[in-house]
Amino acid sequence: RAKSAGGNRFETADAEADARAITRHGLTNALPAALERGEFFIEYQPLVDLGDGSVHGAEALVRWSHPQHGVLGPDRFIPLAEHTGLIVPLGRWVLEESVRQATAWQEKHGDRADGGPLRINVNLSPTQLHHPGLVADTAEVLERAGLEPGALCLEVTESALIGADDDLLKPLRQLAEMGVDIALDDFGTGYSNLANLRRMPVSVLKLDRAFTLGMQQSPPDPVDVKIVEGIVSLAHSLDLAVTVEGVETGVQAEQLRELGCDTAQGWYYARPGPPERVLAGVLGSSSPGQARAALSLADT
Ligand code: C2E
Ligand code: MG
Ligand code: MG
Ligand code: MG
Repeated sequence: RAKSAGGNRFETADAEADARAITRHGLTNALPAALERGEFFIEYQPLVDLGDGSVHGAEALVRWSHPQHGVLGPDRFIPLAEHTGLIVPLGRWVLEESVRQATAWQEKHGDRADGGPLRINVNLSPTQLHHPGLVADTAEVLERAGLEPGALCLEVTESALIGADDDLLKPLRQLAEMGVDIALDDFGTGYSNLANLRRMPVSVLKLDRAFTLGMQQSPPDPVDVKIVEGIVSLAHSLDLAVTVEGVETGVQAEQLRELGCDTAQGWYYARPGPPERVLAGVLGSSSPGQARAALSLADT
């Protein structure tokens, strides 16, 4: 009996693995048509200035409105698109669409509270980094939308740059020379060589949520405090700004502000949502052209 139960368990596990593989296969095959049919859409999550609580910009996060499976998050399909190369046209669509959105925000609301342009952050995957058209495509998208390069921040994961040679860093350098900001995403999860930071054309570190989890409790986890303190001081000494991901509570936001982090992003401020929602925060500004997260910072 035990044996057959064990056998069944294996069968079940196999069946589940099969089902997952079939779904993966189906999703992979459906990607090109989905792009053509316009099944992808972008949600935006505000980035907030920890100093004065004003809106700094927003990160574009892609989703797939699948006719059978409902809304799928990027973790379900970005790896598949990476694998088949569809990430190149998909990523270009995300860039075009978010740059267009950023231009619309700017036209409607003017600059940030501190005078800089409202920023749009767009994620780049490793395949896009290796694609020879990246620099020219990006320049063209900015030019056509009339967005200043300084309003765009491209996020590259730390792990995508591990062991990066000059061939890989060159397009990033060219983008940085154009005035585009490069952020190192999920920083702290990739075991990168800190000394390498010096030769990377990066201007922002996005500290992974794993490091900010320990700040949810009061008092905060003392080891996490030391780590964040160290990273902030290293980053600032290299002229890099620090953004923190996954801020879910007010306590966490306050602790990260005290530790000197520059900008923050997370459910505490706003979940990713349609562009009008980011606008709503901007619309709460106290003076014209000043972006203030009145809506998302309302005391809860
Ligand atoms: P990421 O760039 O690190 O994005 C942050 C992720 O954290 C997002 O997940 C966001 O919804 C989630 N998040 C934000 N605030 C909180 C919070 O307070 N708590 C928690 N638990 N999570 C929070 P999402 O949207 O599922 O995206 C996952 C990843 O998919 C992104 O991680 C990014 O690496 C990738 N991705 C998203 N859009 C694109 C894209 O257009 N192109 C590429 N290449 N990758 C993308
Ligand atoms: Mg990101
Ligand atoms: Mg991230
Ligand atoms: Mg992350």
